Amino acid sequence: MPIKLAGESLNACSGCEISILDMGGKLLTLLEFVSIVHLPLLMDSKHCDGKNNSQTVKLPKADVGLISGSIKTKEHLELARAMRDSCDLIIAFGTCATHGGIPALANSFHNDDMLGHCFNTVGTDKADSFPSDIVPEMMDACYALDEHIRVDVCLPGCPPHPDHIFRALQSIEKKESFLLPEKSVCDNCPASRDGKGRVNELKRALELPQWRVFDDTKEVFKCFLEQGFLCMGPVTRDGCGGDTEQARCIMAQVPCRGCYGPVKKEGNQRLAMLNALASNDIDISSLPETLSMLRFSGGHGLLRPLPRIKESE
Ligand code: SF4
Ligand code: SF4
Ligand code: SF4
Repeated sequence: MPIKLAGESLNACSGCEISILDMGGKLLTLLEFVSIVHLPLLMDSKHCDGKNNSQTVKLPKADVGLISGSIKTKEHLELARAMRDSCDLIIAFGTCATHGGIPALANSFHNDDMLGHCFNTVGTDKADSFPSDIVPEMMDACYALDEHIRVDVCLPGCPPHPDHIFRALQSIEKKESFLLPEKSVCDNCPASRDGKGRVNELKRALELPQWRVFDDTKEVFKCFLEQGFLCMGPVTRDGCGGDTEQARCIMAQVPCRGCYGPVKKEGNQRLAMLNALASNDIDISSLPETLSMLRFSGGHGLLRPLPRIKESE
């Protein structure tokens, strides 16, 4: 019997589901042991049965539930809970689900400031109030999945590599274990390092005309960080290359941005990166900001808006 698979997407961009399609020929093999019973982004399936205009979420029973995206509205929360109820095993699918992901950058702002920026700034009509009809109510913050429901398996990545999606589902079907690497992108990086990351000022790769720092004619290249480019490799979980075991951005001549999240699930990429910079004698006061070190992992309360200062203070 194939395993029944259901999928739902919360505060997400659909990239994780596209990664399922990116399996290519392996998708046909996958469909020999997986039966997709619900996955609105890839097939015509609905949350509600629509009978009598019912808006009650109703999902088919499944062995495995893939949930992509973080939780930012009451609707996301309702869907996440409905998936938990209807699926035996829940996979937090992608870094939005495991750590908040890009949407959790919103945690740096108060909700009313964000709404004001979207609905009441130059270029938009002045609104007396923010939309509330039909629009789902926002939660106070953007949450990773396990902050609200029990999660059985974490599959990080923005998006997760197709090889990992395949292997995770195959392992579940075969009742075998499947472990992601618990090492950093640096641990598997081919760059040459001399341990002298003595750069006084970090450079922003995309602002420089010579940002392509590889020389294709050489077999090895010098570590980005030691050249003064901010590379999140030291504090990011390895594995984004899937079965090739070659970090995708590094091989494309771009410093790692940190999309696989912290090396250990509960890690703090910002804190760990500041430590890594400091231990390489890199002047952290030269950084224009550090919040973006949590651009993929700002859930779990790691990113919060600054407290408002009362006028009387
Ligand atoms: S993890 Fe990345 S690809 Fe997946 S939903 Fe979030 S932003 Fe999109
Ligand atoms: S900092 Fe970046 S370039 Fe340097 S070794 Fe680590 S992953 Fe490679
Ligand atoms: S190199 Fe870093 S940012 Fe790029 S895909 Fe891998 S983990 Fe993500």
